[in-house]
This record gives sequence, structure tokens and C-alpha cells, in this order.
Amino acid sequence: MQHPCLRCGACCAHFRVAFHWSEAEAFLGGGVPPELTEKLDPHRLAMRGTNAAQPRCVALQGTVGVAAHCGIYAQRPSVCREVQPSWEFGAISPQCDKARLAHGLPVLTPEDWLDPFDASEPPIPQSA
Ligand code: SF4
Ligand code: SF4
Repeated sequence: MQHPCLRCGACCAHFRVAFHWSEAEAFLGGGVPPELTEKLDPHRLAMRGTNAAQPRCVALQGTVGVAAHCGIYAQRPSVCREVQPSWEFGAISPQCDKARLAHGLPVLTPEDWLDPFDASEPPIPQSA
């Protein structure tokens, strides 16, 4: 099953992605590439492109709703790690739903997480 986020990317093109400046300071253990950030206020940075009327993170690769991924996945800010896709862990995610709807995409459902090729489940329910 392809992860639904790899056909989406909507949340990376909907919210302002702001986080503490230390996340982009290597000497403090921060891994976010500083050149992809901009100063938001004395305490926070934002991913470039997200502090805009029509946000799109500079690190987002691909086309929203078709094929998209984070170009700095292993180095992405903490706020990005906290966004969960709806139903991956059994509950809706308001951020995911809001971003997808804003891009004209349907919200995810539990069915989006079913693997049609999962051989561990019988294709036809067994009768008693
Ligand atoms: S978390 Fe939701 S909105 Fe964000 S990329 Fe995944 S499916 Fe899309
Ligand atoms: S850093 Fe990556 S996960 Fe975070 S908003 Fe940008 S593209 Fe999305």
C-alpha cells in the first residue's frame, strides 16, 4: 500500500509552519536546514513559503493531491512530525482533514489504510 501522504502533501501547502529557532541550530542539535527557514519573531522561525496567503513549504516536492513528499523528511521540524494523517492510528486528524478539504481533496477514511493485496486476510469472509 502506498502511504496516503505520498499522494497528498496538502498540509505542507496550507499551514504556517512555525517552530523554535533552536530546531535550526546545529550546535543545539537542530536538524532543520537554516537556509530553508525565515525569521518569524525573536523566538520562532517559519519554513520558507509557509508564512504566506497561499502557503507552500519550500521543502515540499511534487504536486499536491497527485504525488508529493517532504524533501527534508529526516530533518523536518517537530511541528511537521506531530501532524498525523486521519485514521492512521484510528482517529481523525483535524489538521489533516482541514488541509485536504482546502485543496479539494476528500478527507481520509479508515478504508484508505486497507491494503488490497494483504494476503493475511481472506478475500472472501469464511462462512461458519
Ligand atoms: S497528513 Fe493528511 S494532509 Fe498531510 S500529507 Fe498526509 S494525508 Fe495529506
Ligand atoms: S518541512 Fe517537510 S513536512 Fe514540513 S511542511 Fe515542509 S515539506 Fe511539509
